[in-house]
Amino acid sequence: MLILGIETSCDETAAAVVRDGREILSNVVVSQIDIFAEYGGVIPEVAARSHLEVVLPVIDKALTDAACSWDDIDAIAVTHAPGLLGSLLIGTLTARTLAVIHNKPLYAVHHLKSHVYANWLCGGDEQNDSNVPQFPLLALVVSGGHTQILYMPQHNRFEIIGTTHDDAVGECFDKVAKILGLPYPGGPSITKAALAGDQNRYKLPHPKVDGLDFSFSGLKTAVLRAVQKEVRVEISYPSHKLQDLLTPQQVADFAASFQKTAVDILCEKMRAALAEYPDVQSVAVAGGVSANTILREKMKDISSVPVCFPLASLSGDNGAMVAAACYYEIMSGVKPTDPYTLNIYPRIPIA
Ligand code: AMP
Ligand code: MG
Repeated sequence: MLILGIETSCDETAAAVVRDGREILSNVVVSQIDIFAEYGGVIPEVAARSHLEVVLPVIDKALTDAACSWDDIDAIAVTHAPGLLGSLLIGTLTARTLAVIHNKPLYAVHHLKSHVYANWLCGGDEQNDSNVPQFPLLALVVSGGHTQILYMPQHNRFEIIGTTHDDAVGECFDKVAKILGLPYPGGPSITKAALAGDQNRYKLPHPKVDGLDFSFSGLKTAVLRAVQKEVRVEISYPSHKLQDLLTPQQVADFAASFQKTAVDILCEKMRAALAEYPDVQSVAVAGGVSANTILREKMKDISSVPVCFPLASLSGDNGAMVAAACYYEIMSGVKPTDPYTLNIYPRIPIA
């Protein structure tokens, strides 16, 4: 079964053709990172306009790269939730129109589900079953907008067992990078800066949050206070001017200390989750932050069950993961949606 996946929930316009939920025939991603690097974050209206300009060429390229015509496509999958309202509208309106014109079944897919299903996609010669997550599993979804632990007893069944009370961990990476004067997006810049840093130089607190929930806004504030203390200014000093007072070594040490703390917090909660759910057979990490190399290293040590990660190139937003999630929805008996009434839900949870 060939599925065309379309993704426009935030600042990537993406389309891909995937066979049977695993084999990527094409995967086209046009990122708006260069536009938003200048502003230090995503501007929703600009993102929507940018999607509008490139969405059709991106879909055309996905079909061309896969050497497919519309006749070969069995279904269209599109992200309808959660995300930026204008961005979701461009993707869904495009998918709805194409589904009607080409008479294809249309499936609306939840974005976090897609991130989890990036773990089922194979890359290059990795097309065997040995690295596919086994059920029941725990998924750690770590992205710019979400930080959740999900219990997944089988395909297409999700139970939220832990979630953040405030900021997402990716958002925290982005905000800390801003304090340190590192470019957007913060995750990769912090990892790069941390290479030259001492992760034990600054002691940052772990938030006290009950159960399997998270809180990351306190960690961001702790970095802010530690920077203010280090450069000896009052807490009322404008945060955007702090970067001018930091030496490159201090920036590297703050980046390394913050990254270590954020990763340790995620690993601690996953250890607790594994203790609470002793039946799990594997862990699947997903979302933009799953590209983090330190997280990848440390998560491998947290349990005896296999810990899976998507290929680093598939950890950010892409259309292939939407197509993969859709395939397993279809296999679980989900029926297509009506292209005339498909709606978007900017804030709806996965379960
Ligand atoms: P997503 O929301 O899934 O598109 O992922 C975007 C988020 O992932 C942003 O907040 C990025 O800062 C974060 N991110 C991307 N790469 C990394 C990385 N290597 N380490 C930590 N965070 C990252
Ligand atoms: Mg995402």
